[in-house]
Parts: sequence; structure tokens; C-alpha cells
Amino acid sequence: MASSSPLSRRRMLASAASCGVAFAGGGHLAPAVAAAAVVQPDPAGPAAIMDRAFAMKRRAEAEGDQPYGAVVVLDGRIVGEAPSAVVTGRDPTAHAEMQAIRDAVRRLRAASLAGAELYSTSRPCPMCETAAFRAAIRRMVHGTALTDAGPPRPVISAP
Ligand SMILES: [Zn+2]
Repeated sequence: MASSSPLSRRRMLASAASCGVAFAGGGHLAPAVAAAAVVQPDPAGPAAIMDRAFAMKRRAEAEGDQPYGAVVVLDGRIVGEAPSAVVTGRDPTAHAEMQAIRDAVRRLRAASLAGAELYSTSRPCPMCETAAFRAAIRRMVHGTALTDAGPPRPVISAP
């Protein structure tokens, strides 16, 4: 009787619109993959987080890519992780740190990583350090010795 009332039709349109919004940000990425939770190390802590970065490095090597891995951490939890994808992705900007930052912002659905830390197997290059600065990452840590590189600086300055 009242199944096609103006109110219920409005609700249907609203829910269709919210679906559209949900998929708009993901483009052609599979939303389920992008939103999948990162498996957290147990026990957690800086060494375990760096171990994950090195696991990413081993993955990069196994895939025939450059031997680098990186992880983004927020509030002690890994929110992004990636191996280098320069060779496999045919992308000279796909350093592990860039990929980990991209992974984190996709998962968090945010353009800022304010308060996050970047763990990488090697000292980030100027491109990656600048990207970390632009992403508002607060601290960089690298290598097996957990070297604290401090806050990223805008190494590559805008013209
Ligand atoms: Zn780099």
C-alpha cells in the first residue's frame, strides 16, 4: 500500500547516494582489500614493528623488486605497510615508504597521517622524507638498530 510513498523513496535514494559516496574514494581499487585490517604483531613494540618492515623488504626481494620495506604506525598500531614496488609496479616513485604512506591513507581514508611514525628498513630518500613531511608524519625510524631520524623535513622544497 504505502511501499512507494515519497518518504520510502527518499530513503532509497539516500541509501543509494551513500553507497556512491562510499565507492567514490576507492576508484577501481577493491574496497575490501583496501579496508582489510593490518595484522598486528604480538607482542607489539618498536622491534616487532621494524620486523614487519623487514618482512616487507623480504617480500620485495622475493617479488624481484628493490630490497626495501616500510611500515606506518599510529598509536602503536600498524596502519600501513608495503614493499618497494618500483620494478613490479613499473613506478620509479613506488619506494616502500611512499607505498606504505599510500597504504595507510587508503586504509584510514584520510589525507593526513598526523601523529604517525614511519618505520623503514633504510634511511628514507629525500622524495620519501618530503612525502612523509607532507603527510604530517611526526617521526622516522630506520634500520635494525631502530635509528631515530626525528621528524621528516621538507627536503624537496616547492618552487
Ligand atoms: Zn624513497
